[in-house]
Amino acid sequence: MKLFRFGPPGAEKPGLVSGERWLDVSAFGEDYGEAFFESDGLARLGAFMAAEGPRCPAIPPDARRASAIRRPSKIVCVGLNYRDHALETGAQIPSEPVLFLKAPSALSGPNDDVIIPRQSQKTDWEVELGVVIGKTARYVEEGSALDYVAGYVLVNDYSEREFQRERGGQFTKGKSADSFAPVGPLLVTADELDASDLALWLSVNGQECQKSRTSSMIFAVPRLVSYISSFMTLVPGDLISTGTPAGVGLGRKPPSFLRPGDVVEFGIEGLGEARQRVIASP
Ligand code: ZN
Repeated sequence: MKLFRFGPPGAEKPGLVSGERWLDVSAFGEDYGEAFFESDGLARLGAFMAAEGPRCPAIPPDARRASAIRRPSKIVCVGLNYRDHALETGAQIPSEPVLFLKAPSALSGPNDDVIIPRQSQKTDWEVELGVVIGKTARYVEEGSALDYVAGYVLVNDYSEREFQRERGGQFTKGKSADSFAPVGPLLVTADELDASDLALWLSVNGQECQKSRTSSMIFAVPRLVSYISSFMTLVPGDLISTGTPAGVGLGRKPPSFLRPGDVVEFGIEGLGEARQRVIASP
């Protein structure tokens, strides 16, 4: 299934793509968050659609696309998971996954404006494959890790490089500003998409910056789910952002970062595309 959410911030509704139609499935009565995933919501939604799908209306054509998932309990990000990106930032190739957390309040819709935080000079982009957890994962074996995945989403792990690297030596400050985690437009369920070799790309003002494939990850999705679950419990609806390939602003010579008025477009094969305007903090 292809799930999405739509409507104004704070009043999002669930939707589902059926063929070419983007349907309002508010009548299902649940949002796509922890309670939904942990109670076998995907199967129940499938049964609901089989019975009620023909009666679900299409969403308004101008409806805002929201984050494809409700705010999760946590967003776990993987750093330096593509060799070419590690090299462009001057970092070592990691011998095990580098993890950090991004504040869930950074969540936004895929076409929402990206807000440059106050005092920021180095707001940067990172297109990434996102993994949505479907059931509680604790000390999961790599061989069964995909059983814990509900589906996949497009993510941009926006990053303020000065806050991340020059303001006290831990990533969180640079990763957590409002609007720094657009997710969507779609959540594509794991039964419909093999995410092991998907094209991903990003452009700024029409100029291509990032272009790679998920098969270039150093640590693939099963390893990441297993590894992370050995340090913390992943709960249904949690989001793992799996790292970005080369081509971020920090890696350019000279480095270049986002300015108000810029337009960032990005996508992953099978997961849709996003288009965001960059604005200054109000
Ligand atoms: Zn990242």
